[in-house]
Amino acid sequence: MASATEVSIEGRTLRLTNLEKVLFPACGFTKAQVIDYYRQIAPVMLPHIADRCPTLVRAPDGVAGEVFFEKRCPSHRPEWIAIGPANGVTGGCVIDSLAALVWTANLAAIELHVQQSPRLALQTPTAMVFDLDPGDGSTILDCRRVALQLRTWLEQLGLAVFVKTSGSKGIHLSVPISGSAVTHEDAKRFALSMGQLLEQRDDTVTTNMAKEQRVGKVFIDWSQNDRHKTTVAPYSMRIREYPTVSTPLSWDELEAASDERCLRFIPDEVIERVAARGDLWSDALTVQQQLPHLN
Ligand code: ATP
Ligand code: MN
Repeated sequence: MASATEVSIEGRTLRLTNLEKVLFPACGFTKAQVIDYYRQIAPVMLPHIADRCPTLVRAPDGVAGEVFFEKRCPSHRPEWIAIGPANGVTGGCVIDSLAALVWTANLAAIELHVQQSPRLALQTPTAMVFDLDPGDGSTILDCRRVALQLRTWLEQLGLAVFVKTSGSKGIHLSVPISGSAVTHEDAKRFALSMGQLLEQRDDTVTTNMAKEQRVGKVFIDWSQNDRHKTTVAPYSMRIREYPTVSTPLSWDELEAASDERCLRFIPDEVIERVAARGDLWSDALTVQQQLPHLN
């Protein structure tokens, strides 16, 4: 592929640049490959990000170079990229089309992170999340065990739960919430209570943020439900040594995974998974359920 090329997508003309630039030196993975991944994953990824303004994490010189977070949409955006409120700022990019996602990929926006609430209802989370982080000496397999226990409890409460790898070290759970009755504070409190319940029974679990408390444990980061926080979007690539993806999983495959390598996916694998099995998070977009009240 030439270093720069003009493409037409959905009637929008995009100038793609530095296509041969290697963004993941360990694998020789290029910007053209990043763009191609986002082009192919767009149909399943867009529904998860279209109603919010993602924070972009850009690595224009690759994963070993300078990395920067952008909440605001770059001022040089094309006029057809809409902007909206995001994470305490106005003017985040609305990424609701294939053309928009290819445009961000061309900015080397390798990661896209979203808030738990949509841009038009920033006070109302549409999901409660559990961010499971392995402390020093723990692995994603320890997170797996915690995820399975949380899922058992949540299902006993009648709640559907969705799981993905973070694409980095841990696991993310998402419990969709419908209606406007629940606040970020409610979701935070619910997640903390559930984390504390598990912490009391399992001394390899902590809800304590302090780094030294996390050694040999899984940290259940309930505070990710704060209104200002974001979580990496499903299907986002990560800025890591290898081009890994935050990958939706089925509960069966998480249960079956006995090796860390079963829980690490690169773009081609994710495209193949989606071709074979569709979006394992599609029901998260439609399920109607409420968090039980805590007193
Ligand atoms: P890991 O599995 O390694 O924990 P992660 O994506 O869950 O990967 P965390 O450090 O647990 O990373 O953070 C959770 C989420 O908080 C991230 O997905 C991201 O959206 C947000 N976040 C973390 N650090 C920052 C930061 N410096 N600036 C903005 N957002 C951040
Ligand atoms: Mn995490």
